[in-house]
Amino acid sequence: MDKRPVVVGNWKMELSHKSALEVFSALEKMMKEKEFEVDVAVCPSFPALHAIADLAKHTSLTIGAQNIHEEDRGAYTGSVSVSQIKDFVSWCIVGHSEVRQREHDSDEMVAMKTRLLLTHGITPIVCIGETQEQRFDEQTTRVLLQQIDSLISALDRVSLLKTVIAYEPIWAIGTGEMPDSNEVYEVMLLIRKRISQKFDGDLADRVRLLYGGSVKSDNVGQYIAGAGADGVLVGGASIHPRDFFEIISNVSKHYAR
Ligand code: PEP
Repeated sequence: MDKRPVVVGNWKMELSHKSALEVFSALEKMMKEKEFEVDVAVCPSFPALHAIADLAKHTSLTIGAQNIHEEDRGAYTGSVSVSQIKDFVSWCIVGHSEVRQREHDSDEMVAMKTRLLLTHGITPIVCIGETQEQRFDEQTTRVLLQQIDSLISALDRVSLLKTVIAYEPIWAIGTGEMPDSNEVYEVMLLIRKRISQKFDGDLADRVRLLYGGSVKSDNVGQYIAGAGADGVLVGGASIHPRDFFEIISNVSKHYAR
């Protein structure tokens, strides 16, 4: 299987401009010393994208955005379009639960943004996941299937192959509470089964699936080796260069090629 694992750092709104540059430089310094067979993306806030993209030139690190507006242009105060960032990023997170909740992004909207990114050659990292309440009500499978089906029915084979799907149980984001590797394994299987039903098993194997939610260097191994994820989406730990570097290193170590 010729896929590379992916580690994505979602810096959210945590860093000042100066700190963002410092965090990036510290990470880059560590990355320079090692060679990993891992795609690594950091996703700063919009104001830092340009500067960090400049620093990332000629490094092994790549840059992503945390969201985009679904329209390409227009009177949308406070929003940022794909055309405005496409020169700086190669990835973009869409459907993050914090955005879904705050901006009421529906599954259809997430699918629309995914397609828009693909037309601009940007790899979408599409987040799906259930709330704590849905988990307690045993609605996890139903909720995830709805999110998965909405996405895959909007994409053709080639587009889906270029898309990364991140399973992020909402209750695990920033909480230190995590699903065990069996639970994540079941979700990875569910996504692959759905892709296989709509397309075929080969595509289902090749689409990269990530886990996200309270990932740290000491727990990441179980999601890669145990749950069969192709990488991780990291929030809190990604703004600490040493921690993020250790996560990348452990993903590289545990990923079975
Ligand atoms: C996230 O923001 O996508 C995330 C997974 O955050 P954390 O790692 O802090 O749980």
